[in-house]
Amino acid sequence: MTSSADTDSAKTSNFLRHVIENDLAQGTYASRGWGGSPGDGAHHAAGMADPARIRTRFPPEPNGYLHLGHAKSIWLNFSLAREYGGVCHLRFDDTNPEKEEQEFVDAIRDAVRWLGYDTDFADDPMQPGALRGHEYFASDYFDFMYRAAEYLVQAGHAYVDEQSAEQMRANRGDFSTPGTPSPYRSRTPAENLARLRAMRAGELADGAAVLRAKIDLASPNINLRDPALYRIRRATHHNTGDAWCIYPMYTFAHPIEDALERITHSICTLEFEDQRPFYDWLLERLSEGGLLQAPPPHQYEFARLNVTHVLTSKRKLRQLVEEGRVDGWDDPRMPTLAGLRRRGYTPEALKLFCERSGVTKAGGWIDYASLETALRETLDPAAPRAMAVLDPVKLVITNWDALMGAGVLDACRAPVHPHAPERGQRQFHFGRELWIERSDYEQNPPKGYHRLYPGNKVRLKYGHVVECTGATLDAQGRVSQVQAVLIPDTKSGTPGADAIKVKGVITWVGAHDALACELRLYERLLRAEQPGSGELDAELNPDSLRVTQGYVEPALASAAPGTAYQFERHGYFVRDASAKTAGQFVFNRACGLRDSWGK
Ligand code: ATP
Ligand code: MG
Repeated sequence: MTSSADTDSAKTSNFLRHVIENDLAQGTYASRGWGGSPGDGAHHAAGMADPARIRTRFPPEPNGYLHLGHAKSIWLNFSLAREYGGVCHLRFDDTNPEKEEQEFVDAIRDAVRWLGYDTDFADDPMQPGALRGHEYFASDYFDFMYRAAEYLVQAGHAYVDEQSAEQMRANRGDFSTPGTPSPYRSRTPAENLARLRAMRAGELADGAAVLRAKIDLASPNINLRDPALYRIRRATHHNTGDAWCIYPMYTFAHPIEDALERITHSICTLEFEDQRPFYDWLLERLSEGGLLQAPPPHQYEFARLNVTHVLTSKRKLRQLVEEGRVDGWDDPRMPTLAGLRRRGYTPEALKLFCERSGVTKAGGWIDYASLETALRETLDPAAPRAMAVLDPVKLVITNWDALMGAGVLDACRAPVHPHAPERGQRQFHFGRELWIERSDYEQNPPKGYHRLYPGNKVRLKYGHVVECTGATLDAQGRVSQVQAVLIPDTKSGTPGADAIKVKGVITWVGAHDALACELRLYERLLRAEQPGSGELDAELNPDSLRVTQGYVEPALASAAPGTAYQFERHGYFVRDASAKTAGQFVFNRACGLRDSWGK
């Protein structure tokens, strides 16, 4: 269990907490035994009687990288288990060999670990010696699933349908018309068993037959109109290789996975609500047959997370990657956990955001700004400060050599964090030449402009006051250099320095010691507020990435990827952690200091 100050715990009340508290009070799962037997792969979840524990699971299909929506599900399942002294399984729902890859399995594992839930699936006191702790693969249960299929056939609850896919679709009916029975529906259990075994043995071509449950062709719920349980597909599976040429359908596999792992609360998003009757039907049949023990897991649905300007569909994200619209799954503009991490998001920020977004039955869109708010709130107290110049132009102090001496550098200090003096001071040097922001000089200042223009005095933050004397323009009329003179005895922190009043304070770095770097400034990847329904080209924001060559304080030469800095006036930045930029100084802007979208 975590402390109440920790954002891991699902502190805000929600309907799932009421359900769990009620089940714990009633002892709903106290008598829970164990179905399945070693050899099914299910022994990973076996153990002794497990009275007061709840078990949840996060069951991604390894067909892509996890995204922000998955973070919500991870947070919900793992934090509920933690809070109620239960266990959460990381389960790879790998029943679809064609789309699944080891790369995705690895990326999912990394993302869950990064969010801070590694210990939850690394060691389980209930299973000493278990190899993988709480990490599970649906494909480990293929033997059990196949036995369950044979049982359903023998009990008259399933049949092998050899209609073509088109016939099957046509015979399913629609909302107003009941389905039409397949000519194969009345086969005897013995005939069906022989055909199922023929499917399994590879005697039938891909797509020649499917195993279907025999439930109710007139059901108003289409999911109960004899759903498919198994299909024939000769494909090599990342885990089971070529051992199988038939694969279970998701709707059949998922309840079995939950039951074998003794999941108590199977939490999913609302689109699965209509599948719950089948989920319950299947587990009842298998319990009747003695294949599983009661009480079965129960499915609960909550509204999926939708965030404005964010795509939360693996299919669409894959499209962005495959069409080269972004630089891979971990592009910092991507809402994948790998991308958010590279962008500078922290697990704390994401968990805070998930908690604030609530767990309800009613869907809706959460404003993207609240994601950035959570990030700023968690970074502000932690992030060391630094100065950076994003769009540099040189400022030359023309009286420096005369006043201070040629080549002299003057050490300046600034707090690492303005509200945490105990974190010490950072140091950098003032000298004859500095880098300043191009926008901090105006030849003809608009009204209310207090920064550099000829005749105006400005403080260079943590350094001296200077008076601007003018600027040099290049052939295109662009400022190539700004000049100023130092006003003596005005250095920040020295006695009397504040006697001189200036309205403008600007940030800078020393031309002699600043670190040259690339700065990547991101905007929302999608300009569409509720993306995912229109043409991708129209929804994409063409200005989602701006790259500049700038300078940062010298101390950032030791910046570690993953450590966020607040670049004063510019926002929160983190050194890029991709293999492509290793050894270079590239900083990603995680977010600005305030929301400026649309302004
Ligand atoms: P996608 O639609 O992006 O392919 P999915 O639901 O098919 O997502 P899975 O790998 O099957 O992806 O999802 C694993 C778990 O994550 C499921 O329990 C699913 O309900 C949950 N999940 C996916 N997207 C969201 C979301 N936007 N909000 C909350 N939970 C989500
Ligand atoms: Mg899915």
